[in-house]
Order: sequence, then structure tokens, then C-alpha cells
Amino acid sequence: MKILVVVDMQNDFIDGALGTAEAVAIVPNVIEKIKQYENSDNLVIYTKDTHLENYMDTREGKHLPVPHCIKGTEGHGIPDEILRGHDLIIEKPTFGSVELVRYLENIEFDEVELIGLCTDICVVSNALLIKARFPELEVSVDSSCCAGVTPATHEAALTTMKMCQINVK
Ligand SMILES: [Zn+2]
Repeated sequence: MKILVVVDMQNDFIDGALGTAEAVAIVPNVIEKIKQYENSDNLVIYTKDTHLENYMDTREGKHLPVPHCIKGTEGHGIPDEILRGHDLIIEKPTFGSVELVRYLENIEFDEVELIGLCTDICVVSNALLIKARFPELEVSVDSSCCAGVTPATHEAALTTMKMCQINVK
């Protein structure tokens, strides 16, 4: 089984509080990629950055004082055109998801591909976590379906992932 992890394709990261033109631009590629995984041999997992009303008091909030992905708000949601009726969603309170790794530990799979936002924060964090836990499996990232906080940090994260033997397409 191949797994596609769609990282944090949430309104606040696309065109909301922390949106970018680059994030908006990858949406069609992301939808095409998800469609490619839509058969019974594969599994599509979504992650959602998930904060509460106390966001500004958290360590992340002190470093990035822009409230985003607050549970229950529009910005926390994933657009229907991206969710496409899938319902396997893992909410995570920080960049990398230990819950995602634990989920993967309990299923059989051969490969995992990651796409989404942001390349330089949550995509790289989760790719490295998965690579650390499953060093003998193929972990790949499709750069045409990812966007970073800036184009420069997007490229830097792709370089870091390549150096860590993640297959960057
Ligand atoms: Zn966040």
C-alpha cells in the first residue's frame, strides 16, 4: 500500500492568516495528486495544524504571533475540493505529528509520499519523523505540491530533505 500524507492544506495556510501566492498556486497540483491515490490500494491521510484559543500563550505563538488554524474557525478547515470526501484526518498541535507516526506504525505500507504546506515547517518535520521511524521504506516529497513560507526557505527545505535521503520529486 502507498500512503499519501496531505500536510496542513488548511484555509489559513492557503489564503487565510498565513496564506501565500505560492500556496494558492499549488492547489490544482495537490488535487491532481490526491486523485492519483484514489484507489483501494492506497490511503490518503490529512493532517491539520490545530490550535486553541490560547494560541498566543503557546511557545509557537510567542515566536509567530499570528493566530491561525484555531479549532472551530474557517481557517482551521480544509477546502472541500481538497478533502474530496476523505475522512482520515489527524489533528496535530505542533509541526511534526507523533500521532501520525503512531498511526503508521499500526498499518502495513510500502511507501509514503508527502505534499502540502509549509515545505519548510510541517512538511519537512513530518518527512523527517517518518524517515526516522521507517528508515527502510521509501519516503518521498513532491515539490510541485508543496509551498514554503518563502520561495527561498521552500528550496532550502527541499535541499535538507534530499540530504536526508528523502526522494524529492
Ligand atoms: Zn501552527
